[in-house]
Amino acid sequence: MKRKIIDCRDFPNEIGCTLLISGSQKEVFNISLRHAIEEHGHKDTAELRKQIKAMMKKEINIKQNIKKNKKKGITK
Ligand SMILES: [Zn+2]
Repeated sequence: MKRKIIDCRDFPNEIGCTLLISGSQKEVFNISLRHAIEEHGHKDTAELRKQIKAMMKKEINIKQNIKKNKKKGITK
């Protein structure tokens, strides 16, 4: 199953959050919504939900990075 990710660093935030959330689309959405409200202090609005959906990326980017690191000998 393909997972989705949300990286808080993609968006400027006042608390300097660097969290990366990954999982199924539903999981990522639910956790991110709660996280945005509780940690980032956002209000639960339709606009916020739309923004979270727009933030989601396919996990493939991470795997590509791991491959790159393997070549450099950073990870085994
Ligand atoms: Zn965050």
